[in-house]
Amino acid sequence: MNKTLDRFSLRLSDVFGLVFGSSLHRAQTQNKLARHIVALNGKTSPAEIINEVADCLKDILGYRLFAFVNKKNAGVDIWLDPQMYKASIEEIIIKDFQIEDIKDLTYLNAHKDQEECREKFNLNALVYYDHKEENCYSRLYMLPGSPITAFHDDVVSIVLQGCSAALSRQIKIQRLKDAAAIDPLTGCYNRRAFEVQLKAYASGAERHRNPLSVFMFDLDHFKSVNDTYGHLGGDEVLKEVSRLIRENIRTEDIFARYGGEEFIVILPETNKTHAIELADRLRQKIGGMRIPFNNQTIRVTSSFGVAQLGEDADIVKLVEDADSMLYKAKLNGRNTVMPGLIKVHRDEQAQPVPQVKSSLNLQ
Ligand code: GH3
Ligand code: MG
Ligand code: MG
Repeated sequence: MNKTLDRFSLRLSDVFGLVFGSSLHRAQTQNKLARHIVALNGKTSPAEIINEVADCLKDILGYRLFAFVNKKNAGVDIWLDPQMYKASIEEIIIKDFQIEDIKDLTYLNAHKDQEECREKFNLNALVYYDHKEENCYSRLYMLPGSPITAFHDDVVSIVLQGCSAALSRQIKIQRLKDAAAIDPLTGCYNRRAFEVQLKAYASGAERHRNPLSVFMFDLDHFKSVNDTYGHLGGDEVLKEVSRLIRENIRTEDIFARYGGEEFIVILPETNKTHAIELADRLRQKIGGMRIPFNNQTIRVTSSFGVAQLGEDADIVKLVEDADSMLYKAKLNGRNTVMPGLIKVHRDEQAQPVPQVKSSLNLQ
């Protein structure tokens, strides 16, 4: 990092030496820029990095940063000025980056939907600057506050260099983290990452006295899926089932591959009854899937075990409980959730032992 900053200081002296007559003004602006560059290096997410760039450009040049676009392998990450009317600049980005599918645009910052919050701008006055780093290519779209000079170009190029370096470092760190925590076949957390997450979530739940549940599930007779469709067919099932689960849980839930075809999900702020209901919905969805593979259709079922964290916040017991419930579900004939929900007729609630047949197994 020192080396990077030295390089910036050297460039800064050149730029300010040429442009500013007043040494006080020069020193002040140089300090401001250096402060923003140092701050950039301390940021840990793309959105934080770009917010800092926006502040810096406003602070030093009076520029309004409209959009920051970072090109990835497929598609682009976009940061938009929150007051910007999205549709107008999106059109420009799609054209400039030759985007074919709108799904390849990922917005880094939340965007307000209320039309009245948006300002109208003359996009013809928009300028852009590009920068390329070893693993990322970025473009800043801006509206200058005053006519552009060589000094402006130099300042923007320094800021962009600092921004790209910070982003590129962040991308590398994220890749290393992902490689250590994510299962490459399914994109789920791996077991080690799951254990780290469970510890953190369980201590949070205990501290705030919130419920926390987990469900574990295992695909039924998966060996015969491999035997019938081959290992690649089995892999396709694992990918598709993982995708379905991810699409049907909340972003705060933690989904992990626990072993071969066994998965586990942490459900923060969820009691056992709700966890069982969710598990049963997912069981039905998995059973309803038609997975295309080599001109054939693969169908699978799954068995679930559910458990809630006890007051002692014992996470080993929590996982053991879910595992033994999963074992029971297998013994109960598979394609089921254990424990099952006990459904009670409203008008029979006062009666003793009013259990009725439910679609779920009773424990
Ligand atoms: P049960 O209903 O009792 O769960 O039966 P099962 O056949 O699913 O039982 P078991 O857990 O013994 O078998 C799991 C199989 O999953 C065995 C293993 O070869 C397969 N498997 C584990 N990991 C992978 C993987 O990454 N890809 C594929 N295709 N198969 C895998
Ligand atoms: Mg199995
Ligand atoms: Mg298994």
